[in-house]
Amino acid sequence: MRERGEAVIHLGIGEPKNKTPINAILSSAARLTSGEVKYTPADGMPALKKAVIRYTEENYDRLVAPENVLVTNGAKQSLFNIIYSLLNPQDEVIIIAPYWVSYPEIVRMCMGHPVIVTPEDGTFTPRFEDIERAVTSYTRAIIVNSPNNPSGAIYPPSLIEHLVDFCERKGIYLICDDIYHKLIFDKKEAVPATRFTKRDLEDSHVIIVNGVAKIYGMTGFRVGWVVAPRELVRVMTNVIAQTTSGVSPVSQAAAEGALNGLQSVVEAIRLQIQNNRDVLLQEMKSFNGARLIPPDGTFYALPDLRAFNASSVELAKFLLKKALVVTVPGREFGMEGHIRISFSGTVKDVTEGIARIKWALDPTSPNEIYIGDRKMVRDWL
Ligand code: PMP
Repeated sequence: MRERGEAVIHLGIGEPKNKTPINAILSSAARLTSGEVKYTPADGMPALKKAVIRYTEENYDRLVAPENVLVTNGAKQSLFNIIYSLLNPQDEVIIIAPYWVSYPEIVRMCMGHPVIVTPEDGTFTPRFEDIERAVTSYTRAIIVNSPNNPSGAIYPPSLIEHLVDFCERKGIYLICDDIYHKLIFDKKEAVPATRFTKRDLEDSHVIIVNGVAKIYGMTGFRVGWVVAPRELVRVMTNVIAQTTSGVSPVSQAAAEGALNGLQSVVEAIRLQIQNNRDVLLQEMKSFNGARLIPPDGTFYALPDLRAFNASSVELAKFLLKKALVVTVPGREFGMEGHIRISFSGTVKDVTEGIARIKWALDPTSPNEIYIGDRKMVRDWL
């Protein structure tokens, strides 16, 4: 539609707008100019692993060994590799709704069964008892993503504490997808699961997934990592050796540069996103009929628009057609009746995008609007 010259606003994108941090550019450029761009060890370059170990010590208070670390092509490959390595056919993985779209698909691709736990209507945080009730003898892992894509919710420390304790007692793996763990607002805290175990990560059932995509805005470099017990890392390394043979050294050098470089870049991204979140909340105030639980982290909001249409797919299509705004239907995240709005773009995208959505849906909003240079009149409400 953009190619046809239409003034589309993309509120579906899942990445910050920043340029690559300078330390990442310098480090990858140095690697490139050295001309040493060959295979690396399948589990990751020692220098990057060292940076991950330091990151883990600083952010998770755990000193891990290089054998506990696996570097992957983005956090997505980390998650796929963990599930692929852990599951026997028919095993179950508990996934909390709303969830990142890839979790159930990954589990299915690995011949497992995704078991979805949905929080009480009107909330994005599950009760521990509901998760516990979903556990069977086939449960192999529980995936926790807090701050959460798509809701922006941060789970309370008590829930994480219960889950760590439960998983360790039952021998179930707790996969913590921490990819947004520094993109949080208003001095809230996303408490790492490691806070609730005295065990070394080697003996724990906590698995950490993280990466440079969101925190450093380096989605295109495709670097993520897993911190897990050695035996699991050994198996996952075999999987990598037979599939992708590891990550490009140019990208690994970039990730190393980001992790070892100036950390003020993370705060700059966080502040820009927090500002966008504040603008979004302000705009949503006058949106009659929409219900929004304010996001505490990430760059997504998941308003409940059931007052307008129970089908999120129809809603998203309608918004694209009438208002030229791209959103993602909540159905894909296991939350029908909601739509996901990304506020990682510009302030202008957020203000104009929300104004258009209001115009398309809310009869109490002004019935004329400019889209691009065309004046549009609402004639369907
Ligand atoms: N986990 C979650 C919750 C995500 O939102 C994303 C990216 N959309 C990923 C993992 C994957 O990150 P990466 O780009 O590092 O593969």
